[in-house]
Amino acid sequence: MTIGPAISIRNLAKTYAGGKRALDDVSFDVPAGQIFGLLGPNGAGKSTLINILAGLVNKTSGSASIWGFDIDADPRNAKRSIGIVPQEIVFDPFFTPAEVLEIQAGYYGVPKAARRTLELLAAVHLSDKANAYSRTLSGGMKRRLLIAKALVHTPPVIVLDEPTAGVDVELRRQLWELVGQLNADGVTVVLTTHYLEEAEELCDRIAIINHGKLIADKPTKELVGMAREKVVVLTLDKDPAAMPSQAAFQKCVKLDDHTLEITYDRDRINAGEVMALVQAQGLGIVDVTTREPDLEDVFVSLTTEG
Ligand code: ADP
Ligand code: MG
Repeated sequence: MTIGPAISIRNLAKTYAGGKRALDDVSFDVPAGQIFGLLGPNGAGKSTLINILAGLVNKTSGSASIWGFDIDADPRNAKRSIGIVPQEIVFDPFFTPAEVLEIQAGYYGVPKAARRTLELLAAVHLSDKANAYSRTLSGGMKRRLLIAKALVHTPPVIVLDEPTAGVDVELRRQLWELVGQLNADGVTVVLTTHYLEEAEELCDRIAIINHGKLIADKPTKELVGMAREKVVVLTLDKDPAAMPSQAAFQKCVKLDDHTLEITYDRDRINAGEVMALVQAQGLGIVDVTTREPDLEDVFVSLTTEG
């Protein structure tokens, strides 16, 4: 048996009561075994899509299946196949982490003998907090507990909605490590983020949504490779009184008295030609650095096109 996509989304649309069209004809697949990034600015429709998969929001039209189970035709199996870590942290403050996981396991009908409470608490580094009240946990601990909670029924797919929004650098590192570990253990991971460098670092494949529409869906490397703009920073032997404005440059910014940052379209011109144009203005070049295009360059050009 070949494994199909972990999640398959077809022509998904959502218009909220009040008329806001949050998703507009979105179709894509999440390949099994990958870390998949759903990227988009605030308000793009990411949480709406996740909440439809979670059964928390009703779609207006289209279809979605999880691990081969259609969310309408087979909601029970679809739900069993996915663990969702919501964007908002909500807990009953009077339960302990161990109780939170036991209750969740009960909700999914996991028999006592098959429960993984201690194992999951260890995996998210909360063993020593097993019996503390949830309200005494730090924000980072709560986030990790939510991840453990999403895993009690051992789903093949886990979805994290903005796991690192507003968290400090150290917790972000911890969460990235946890995501990597889960994926190494065979879990398909979907995460939404509006942090471009996070998606670029972590994800095998990235889909971008903007204003409810899918505008890209590619392996990360391919997506980053689409960047056409390159940047060269030139240190000059004197202050360029007049900026070497050239039709061939996309942008020319003076960083300080002796430094220019020039953005150019690599399909039209190369770095050597950029430098020749600057030298032709009587400016000597003392030093050169180039910056490779990154996901941000692609994101900006995709979200500002058309
Ligand atoms: P994201 O998670 O990408 O930031 P959301 O899916 O939360 O985006 O929101 C997409 C759009 O739908 C936004 O314009 C948001 O204001 C709107 N929206 C979200 N939830 C609701 C709701 N319950 N009722 C009406 N509009 C909503
Ligand atoms: Mg959101």
